[in-house]
Amino acid sequence: MNNLHQADTSSRSIAGGRLTVDLGALADNWRVLAQRAGGAETGAAVKGNAYGIGLEPAVVALAAAGCRTFFVALPAEGLRLRAALPEATIYVLNGLAEGSAHTLADKDLRPVLGSLAEIEEWAAYRAGGGRGLAALHVDTGMNRLGLTLDQAGALAQLPESARSLGLSLVMSHLACADTPDHPLNARQLGHFGAVAALFPDVPASLAHSAGIHLGSDYHFNLVRPGIALYGGAFMRDEAPLRTVITVETRIIQVRVVPEGETVGYGATQTTRRTSRIGILSTGYADGYLRAASSSDLRPGASVFVHGKSAPLFGRVSMDLMAIDLTDIPDAARGDFVELFGPNIAIDTVAASAGTIGYEFMTSLGDRYERHYVGGA
Ligand SMILES: *Cc1c(COP(=O)(O)O)cnc(C)c1O
Repeated sequence: MNNLHQADTSSRSIAGGRLTVDLGALADNWRVLAQRAGGAETGAAVKGNAYGIGLEPAVVALAAAGCRTFFVALPAEGLRLRAALPEATIYVLNGLAEGSAHTLADKDLRPVLGSLAEIEEWAAYRAGGGRGLAALHVDTGMNRLGLTLDQAGALAQLPESARSLGLSLVMSHLACADTPDHPLNARQLGHFGAVAALFPDVPASLAHSAGIHLGSDYHFNLVRPGIALYGGAFMRDEAPLRTVITVETRIIQVRVVPEGETVGYGATQTTRRTSRIGILSTGYADGYLRAASSSDLRPGASVFVHGKSAPLFGRVSMDLMAIDLTDIPDAARGDFVELFGPNIAIDTVAASAGTIGYEFMTSLGDRYERHYVGGA
């Protein structure tokens, strides 16, 4: 990482935090997952600004690696994606907003139809001569989006329903795939197998990242990984997934705090010795969640500096946070510390905040100086 620090000394002198996105690692992760998926096509979930890393650079790198099918949550994300990739297949997971069929179809954005109301509206659009394509979402046990099994069965009974709706995908979503032994996985798989059989001419998709890992029974025709592409901890131990996101921030000062004093808002953590406290130029306005704070009652997250891990000290505030550098005498003003990246897993930081890596990734603020490396 040192060459990154030295690459641009002028911007280094003003940057608070810096976010480095390794697009080569993103592409490599896609290839690893594609290999895992065997004969199934491997798409990519790029909602939430590609999990925080930046939609356009992410999709260009993924397309260069061979990815053809992308999933966004919102039409606006789909429009941005379409501008970046004119040829891509794009599904809009949150479905068909009222009155939006023509707007979506004009840009070949395919709504994932997830309720009877959406189906009826889409059917009317198609009956009026609309040629746009769509996916059908069937709920198999998550109770979030999707037709019920009975509704899907009734739809399949209608003559030519898949063709008249222009269905190019039938899909469902697993609720508990990150817990491989959870009984809901097998139940959802059974239901989805039956649904896919109702629409034999339409490609089927069930698995997100964790679902790919459940085995080839879950792969069907298309898999839809998100978090694993971005180097989320999931499968890290089993597949050689690379770190995509590195966030570093600078130490803006080092203070000596006597034993028995407190640091930061709320006076929540007390020094137990004369301490060297480093003040970092990042806070919750940058998406470093305040819930990762440390106190006398519970430890918080750690950062990585000079080859060692240093614990947070006290509360994370809006633009600042403090770390204990007492045992790292080399650390000094102007040094950059790693908040997460190759040495500090984002999921570990997230766990300190009682959440998941997904939330840290999608919370990354816009104050970081962004660097993209390893692009095609
Ligand atoms: C977000 C999402 C995915 C990707 O999930 P990951 O856990 O990030 O792999 C796939 N399918 C649907 C429907 C999603 O909402």
